[in-house]
Amino acid sequence: MCIICDRVKMAKEGSFAPFVHEFDTSILVIGEHQYFQGYCVLHHKNCVSDITELSGDNQQKYFSELMEAAEAIKEVFKPDRLNFSSLGNVVSHLHYHIFPRYEEELSKKDKKDPWANAEEFSQFIPTDQEYKDLASRIKAVL
Ligand SMILES: [Zn+2]
Repeated sequence: MCIICDRVKMAKEGSFAPFVHEFDTSILVIGEHQYFQGYCVLHHKNCVSDITELSGDNQQKYFSELMEAAEAIKEVFKPDRLNFSSLGNVVSHLHYHIFPRYEEELSKKDKKDPWANAEEFSQFIPTDQEYKDLASRIKAVL
């Protein structure tokens, strides 16, 4: 069990405000900050460390869920691009960060990767109500 296992469990129990949607193999949640409007994370339901630990069928299933989530985020937030990030260095439980990026902020930040401004993320923590509002907007197009 890790912190992502806890979040998956709370999401299934209906007690996790950032919860958006349950897919077959994964759970989509609103990211823990909104430094990038519409930032979400797709947690795999199983505590595997990265995508290579899944069977080929499960890799494809997870990837198609990632694409469904990405399309929903694009539809709602209309970003200029999406950045995907899956590292697992901090929590070794398969998850993909989906960062919507916008031309205006990209040009200001010299097109840096989404982690370049990580020290500012804590200034953009949503309230439970904001999580729920964001989640319902994405849920509406899934
Ligand atoms: Zn885990």
